[in-house]
Amino acid sequence: RRRSTNPGIFLPHLVASLEQVDESYIMVKPDGVQRGFVGEIISRFERKGFKLKGLKLFQCSKELAEEHYKELKAKPFFPKLVDYITSGPVVCMAWEGVGVVASARKLIGSTDPLQAEPGTIRGDLAVQTGRNIIHGSDSPENGKREIALWFNDGELVEWNPAQAPWLRE
Ligand code: ADP
Repeated sequence: RRRSTNPGIFLPHLVASLEQVDESYIMVKPDGVQRGFVGEIISRFERKGFKLKGLKLFQCSKELAEEHYKELKAKPFFPKLVDYITSGPVVCMAWEGVGVVASARKLIGSTDPLQAEPGTIRGDLAVQTGRNIIHGSDSPENGKREIALWFNDGELVEWNPAQAPWLRE
């Protein structure tokens, strides 16, 4: 085996970083709320073993929707997307756990629900990209950014789930 030029790869603190605890901003979009999927969606993240740190029903302003989706501002569907996200209440959630950002994306499935695998939230419950019922952060950085954008400090709770030792060795 070739010796790595980066000795840091063998250091325990980097091994630990592979187990890094992330945060993901998950949001049930207005169609998910209207169709009655709030409980079902929360349940899927709970059953997987992630920790809920923040939760609220919320009517989003146009300004907040535009800020949240600012990376898509140039897209032709952007105005429709802002209308959609502000069309009714959303359920905002902050979930924490090892690998939660990537895992949540898998649980959610592809952006286009017709391409999303059965068993995923979009694959099971939706048919159109413009009505794909749920949002999940696409990187740990965006997870932090979006949680800070949608929640005030006092709305996030630090707590120790009793199941922790049964979830990870
Ligand atoms: P994801 O939500 O899977 O991360 P994107 O970041 O690419 O997907 O897009 C954000 C959201 O914008 C999508 O979830 C969907 O609601 C909407 N969207 C994306 N592409 C389209 C499209 N072509 N037409 C309508 N809405 C779209």
